[in-house]
Amino acid sequence: MIDEIKIFNRDLNTIRSELEANKPYEACGVLIGTLDGSTAIVEKALPITNSKRTRRSFELDPKEHYDAWNEAEKNGKDIVGVYHTHPMSSAIPSQWDRETMQNYASVWLIAGADGMQAYVWDNGLKPVKLTEYL
Ligand SMILES: [Zn+2]
Repeated sequence: MIDEIKIFNRDLNTIRSELEANKPYEACGVLIGTLDGSTAIVEKALPITNSKRTRRSFELDPKEHYDAWNEAEKNGKDIVGVYHTHPMSSAIPSQWDRETMQNYASVWLIAGADGMQAYVWDNGLKPVKLTEYL
């Protein structure tokens, strides 16, 4: 189980800009990198179109998601997590998020109006430590 995620300041800024640019809708994307034991090391946050474009949920555009996965695979990387934004609320998983998380083994990073938090679902919602690289 993943208990820590390391991410570059540059990529956190990408996510923050996506949050602002897509207001009032949720923005989403994938976190590409590698796993080192229980630590997910993010090398790139890649924005993906929210094909639902709603204020309360998101859906990664399937074609872009597939292309991102394919590209990561080609470079020997994994999609270690998914991020999305809560432009109007805090970085706490919604009921919809909690239900959807149960089908994803990866880290969920949520950028809320009050900052960012990461979680993983493992027989329940677990917090993941977010460490920022400069
Ligand atoms: Zn959410």
